[in-house]
Amino acid sequence: MSAHRTGAPLVDVHAHFLHERCGRADWAERNASRIAAGERIGITVHIASVLGSWGESSPVYFPSPPDVTTGNEAMRTLARMHPGLVRGYVTVNPNYPEQAIAEIELGLAAQMVGVKLAASRRADDRLLDPIAELAGERGVPVLQHAWQHRTRDVPGQEISDALDLAALAARHPGTRFILAHIGGGGDWAHSLRALAEVPNVWVDLSGSGVDRGMLELCLECVGPARLLWGTDVTMETGWAKLRALEAMALPAGALEAIRWQTAARLFRLKP
Ligand SMILES: [Zn+2]
Repeated sequence: MSAHRTGAPLVDVHAHFLHERCGRADWAERNASRIAAGERIGITVHIASVLGSWGESSPVYFPSPPDVTTGNEAMRTLARMHPGLVRGYVTVNPNYPEQAIAEIELGLAAQMVGVKLAASRRADDRLLDPIAELAGERGVPVLQHAWQHRTRDVPGQEISDALDLAALAARHPGTRFILAHIGGGGDWAHSLRALAEVPNVWVDLSGSGVDRGMLELCLECVGPARLLWGTDVTMETGWAKLRALEAMALPAGALEAIRWQTAARLFRLKP
């Protein structure tokens, strides 16, 4: 609440919204509660994505082409309903490369600000190359869902960790990538160390993990200039991490960089 009163910008780089075909009767209520909670936390820009039908008519992490289109349309509608407050990622499934390129072109023409890759393909897969190349040409970041379970594969969700994303980033040095939710979906201690020398990968702090030492290792391995604040599906842990950052005695300017300045630069926002 205090953050809100200061009027300092706060960009959530990893938000999600629902829509009427996601199989949940309370979809509109949940969208409204995200906006309301964001107001209380002090969020000035939600950068969000919709993952197809959220599993209703095709898998969450392997959305069918029609569901990709429906989800992106819903995302653009939300952005139009909340001008400036809600911005959208174009979600694509790289297994349908032609559709992915067409959706990105369409979305960027409609003021979407980034590309979201869920877990339809491992991050180092060659199928991601045309997508990464186009994002680089257009100067929009690519948010890659990171996920690995170390001991097993999970059906319907291709594993990807920082090493996979670093391989893609090395092939596309002119493209900026974001490793999604360091607080969710994998071994953050491993991922952070793997990104220390990868300058075109940023780290989003979202996800429901709030392990002790996580933020400290983010600062140590990646540094404040490559950290972006975010929430993901659950918002309370994002808020907790924000409060922790406020209490950590960061170097001068670091909190502002993490809260909004770096995101504003990457996504070309005017928060
Ligand atoms: Zn997410």
